[in-house]
Amino acid sequence: QGGRRPLVAGNWKMNGTRSSIAVVEQIRENLSPDLAARIDVLICPPSTLIGSCVAATYGSSIAIGGQNLHARTSGAFTGSISAEMLADLGAKYVIVGHSERRAYHHETDDGVHAKALGARRAGLCGIICVGETIEEREQGRALDIVRAQLAIGLPKGATAADTVIAYEPVWAIGSGRTPTPRDIAEVHASLREMLDKLAGDEARKIRILYGGSVKPSNAREILSLDNVDGALVGGASLVAEDFLGICAAY
Ligand code: PEP
Repeated sequence: QGGRRPLVAGNWKMNGTRSSIAVVEQIRENLSPDLAARIDVLICPPSTLIGSCVAATYGSSIAIGGQNLHARTSGAFTGSISAEMLADLGAKYVIVGHSERRAYHHETDDGVHAKALGARRAGLCGIICVGETIEEREQGRALDIVRAQLAIGLPKGATAADTVIAYEPVWAIGSGRTPTPRDIAEVHASLREMLDKLAGDEARKIRILYGGSVKPSNAREILSLDNVDGALVGGASLVAEDFLGICAAY
């Protein structure tokens, strides 16, 4: 759509030990060359597995990414990982402002902005997540919420090389519930219009993913919607067959 190359990204969250590298190997072995030529495929394992997953996908088109980063390069931030450290391991992307980070680690839109700048500084592509809660949707505020999150979170001068947006309604994540296709298309159109205002000419190249209970059975319908340039997949990315089933929607 609009010349944008689709991206199917998996977010393993806090799941996976060394035995899970087999999942990445299965994805690598079973991703058809034809599909690999048409779409970008990304897996974001826990940071403990990034190095081994990079090794397991070496020489393939599958990219590996982080799930979070600290905005600073280095310093006294015990337990944190910088964009430079992720890049050093071979990561190409990093998820920024996932709703679980916002909910459990009090991440703010300003913090998301700083982290997105950190990702860019290290040459990573930041996947900036936005999404409304169920209360916000029921109050008719979904569009206002996601537009505000984007307006604050998106750094000036964002390009398609350093930025992807992911619309992830909080209530759809891990719940098995998804918005109607009409609602998804409405939010994506609104985000694209906002991107046009914020990122000028570059905006039409920036991809907007949908995330929230995407699975093989609903992928085709969701991924064919206008302005949906791919998916951010949680639960279904833990099983190679399911993740590949979603990729196969393209
Ligand atoms: C996510 O965590 O980004 C996500 C979309 O999760 P799930 O696919 O499990 O709803």
